[in-house]
Amino acid sequence: MSYQVLARKCRPQTFAEVIGQEHVTRTLSNAISRGRIAHAYLFAGERGVGKTSIARILAKALNCRSASGPVPEPCGTCDACMEITQGTSMDVHEIDGASNNGVENVRELSENARYMPVRDRYKIYIIDEVHMLSKGAFNALLKTLEEPPEHVLFMFATTEPRNLPDTILSRCIRFDFRRIAAQAIIDHLESIAAGEDVEISRSALGLIARESGGSMRDAQTLLERSIAYCGTPVQDQDLREMLGHIDRGLLYGVLEPLLAGDAPACIAALSGGCENGVEPEQYYFSLLEMLRDMLLLQNAGSPEKVMDLAEDDLERLKVLAGQISAEELLRCFRIFFNAEMDITRSSCPRIALELCLLEMITLKQALPLADVLGRVEALAANRPRPTGPESSTRPVRAPAAGASNAQTRPAESISPPSAPEPIASGQAGDAPDFVEFVRGKKYFQAVAHLQQGELKLDGDRLRIMVQQKSFHADWLGESSAQARLGELATEFYGRPVKIEVEATLKKKSPEEGRATQRREAERSALHNPVVQRVVETFQGKVVEVKTDREPA
Ligand SMILES: [Zn+2]
Repeated sequence: MSYQVLARKCRPQTFAEVIGQEHVTRTLSNAISRGRIAHAYLFAGERGVGKTSIARILAKALNCRSASGPVPEPCGTCDACMEITQGTSMDVHEIDGASNNGVENVRELSENARYMPVRDRYKIYIIDEVHMLSKGAFNALLKTLEEPPEHVLFMFATTEPRNLPDTILSRCIRFDFRRIAAQAIIDHLESIAAGEDVEISRSALGLIARESGGSMRDAQTLLERSIAYCGTPVQDQDLREMLGHIDRGLLYGVLEPLLAGDAPACIAALSGGCENGVEPEQYYFSLLEMLRDMLLLQNAGSPEKVMDLAEDDLERLKVLAGQISAEELLRCFRIFFNAEMDITRSSCPRIALELCLLEMITLKQALPLADVLGRVEALAANRPRPTGPESSTRPVRAPAAGASNAQTRPAESISPPSAPEPIASGQAGDAPDFVEFVRGKKYFQAVAHLQQGELKLDGDRLRIMVQQKSFHADWLGESSAQARLGELATEFYGRPVKIEVEATLKKKSPEEGRATQRREAERSALHNPVVQRVVETFQGKVVEVKTDREPA
């Protein structure tokens, strides 16, 4: 027997042998059992998913001579079945719509259709790529479809059902074919390989399945090519080479530092790969696929079932997927996915790719929204924040040179603001801090008066200078006030401090008064415990203090 290509040799001969289109085969088989046979069928779907195979099986089932009428599953051994399989049947005509698309072709077909079948029950026309027919050809076909002779049956196959006129579509029973699931393709290829005595791993078959994009015919053709190219056993690495895939190690070399936020290592790995002949576009599509696999690992119930990766590869990706939060990963994926045009259409694709990777690293370093909200909540509840930057699933590592170290700073708990550290920030003896301390002690009356004066720490004396003959001078002059302030000052400075009130200041001009009040307002805002905690929590800084209205 002469050599047959795998795709032909393995073509399904019965409905039961068809893979991945059960919704079609079951319906057709049941319809035949019930005697419900239409005059026109439309099989729509991607190439290589079984449209013409099913059309032939249906033709056999309708004309099979193993029974007195159509059968739900053809016998495969009678004259009619054998002839259809071999393409020699006098009553089943396969026509390529692409090369017979003129009106005269269809007229001839319609003319012939009027004659009775030579031997079998039906005269069957299988028209492949039917969307390629011209407008005139469709019109001619429509006449036959409107009043088809009893013995005539049409089966149309198309990858572009949208290009068919509605008048044709409305006269057909339509079946939409699915892309075949990777797992089904792998299983089928495995049994073919076993039958051919070829040794090939399931991960290699997974590569083929992925490459075939759900087309069984393409998968079979690739399997055949890989056997020819690699010999047996088919090594994964050889297969990758044949398919033009990048070595997985090179891909991890870029992906791992990318996810860890290590920009220099990421760009260095990319450069290394590019210098070794990997195209930036290849990097792009392969990395995109890996990010998509990680999304699946995070989100699919049992991702192993929908993925076609080798086990060690799967494990390595799982580790990476566990190190990044879902939100971050989605953000990275979105940036990368949207960059396709920038990278594939750029005249400098490598630079475009580098730019995109750096953008991902930078944006990844922004605090996740959940973290921010968690901290705000902690703040509102006035309790130590529950989540430090490391508590997300981000890997803990030393920050890259030049990278923001905001993420890796240890978490600091928020302590209640009762005792600001005395004399902080190098302002030794800065008396206004004392005013805030007094405010913290809820001695508000004193604060109001102290704010109108000038304070100066002088050895063990705290001098409070106020305006001559003013209400403030009177109030602060009271011994009880001075005693209480003395106690607070002693506590604040950590040593005995005496209060001295000097009514020496001249009356201020209105401008001076406003300026003082403004300074006080700013100081008060900066010392406000809520403001301090916001600054600390978000590791930010106060740029400007704005007052709602000018102090009177
Ligand atoms: Zn038969």
